Amino acid sequence: MSDQSNRKQSITTRVAQALHFVEAETGAVVPAIQPAATYARDENYEVRKPYWYRRDGSQTTSHAEAIIAELENASDSMLFSSGMSACTAVIEHLPTGAHVVVPKVMYHGVLMQIQRYEQNKRITVSSYTAGNLEELAAAVKQGETQLVWVETPNNPNWEVTDIAAAAEIAHAAGAKLLADCTATPPSMTRALDLGADYSFHSATKYLNGHSDITAGVLSVKETGQSWEDIALIRKLQGTVLQSQDAWLLIRGMRTLFLRVERACKNAMAIATHLEGHPHVEKVHYPGLASDPGHSVAKRQTGGQFGGMLSIIVKGSEQTAVDVTRFCELFYPATSLGGVESLIEHRKTVSGEGFPVHPRLLRLSIGIEDADDLIYDLEQALTRACT
Ligand code: PLP
Repeated sequence: MSDQSNRKQSITTRVAQALHFVEAETGAVVPAIQPAATYARDENYEVRKPYWYRRDGSQTTSHAEAIIAELENASDSMLFSSGMSACTAVIEHLPTGAHVVVPKVMYHGVLMQIQRYEQNKRITVSSYTAGNLEELAAAVKQGETQLVWVETPNNPNWEVTDIAAAAEIAHAAGAKLLADCTATPPSMTRALDLGADYSFHSATKYLNGHSDITAGVLSVKETGQSWEDIALIRKLQGTVLQSQDAWLLIRGMRTLFLRVERACKNAMAIATHLEGHPHVEKVHYPGLASDPGHSVAKRQTGGQFGGMLSIIVKGSEQTAVDVTRFCELFYPATSLGGVESLIEHRKTVSGEGFPVHPRLLRLSIGIEDADDLIYDLEQALTRACT
């Protein structure tokens, strides 16, 4: 028998086998769900570490966290009940008056939360155009900025930010860098290896991949006081990911690499088809050689470009809405990263006042047959535009 312990296995193998899970008692290759809300103390009335009450987590949640930590090459990962609760914990742990630098346009929920903290005078905020490192560097205040927030590729125009360069800028000013790489999961982007201090993913999306949970995950190379503070916020607010959802996440992650590979391939075929299309003014997709973020994305995301793209439809705002109405295969639904393809009119979803092109449609490409998806878009565009 060969000695596997001397050979480093591929992360693809490790994730497909949920870290080679085998239940000690039964040999089951699938973990059980641990649903307990509380744990009995031992005969000396001591807490049996590490679990004592549900708000601290469970074996099922820890198992999911261990898989993500390997994917991220992290020393620790923490799962929350949604991406928003993870992002909120990071904002919440900052001291009053902390200076934060964020993109002008980004996932609208996070932006709204940051603006609320700013309006309540909890933090001060400067912003930069997503992907623009000169503006980012100008927004950072030496010795004052505590956190630089990067979303890459960035909702909904998919600008690409060079994580390593952004980390250098943040660190030179004494700030930490958080990279939200939700649109390109850790099978593609390893933000910590590129220099980010926090890697964040809405695990609702590609990590789970089946649109049946909400979850968020933070990962770090180095734990310390800030990490402990964030963990305490999760515990006090009760925002740890629940066991049933952690189990679904583990199940979803086992096929992460396959799903993402297929979604990327489909997205590239669709973006290529739509570039120069008579009814499409613009395609935002880092995989296109014409895209301004192409070369950085190529280096940063391992030669894959993700399953997210946006198009600006020719005509009026109503034409764009009509395309979503006329699609028969794409679901007219929000979210991203699932096996099924979604289309949304971003202005309707992010609300009045959010800076988004009124004719922008955001497409989350799933794992269906690419020709079927192209056919559906063709018929919807033709019907809406002619
Ligand atoms: N960050 C990005 C880039 C997102 O797309 C989302 C959700 O769409 C979030 C954060 C928030 O995650 P959740 O919906 O899991 O709360």
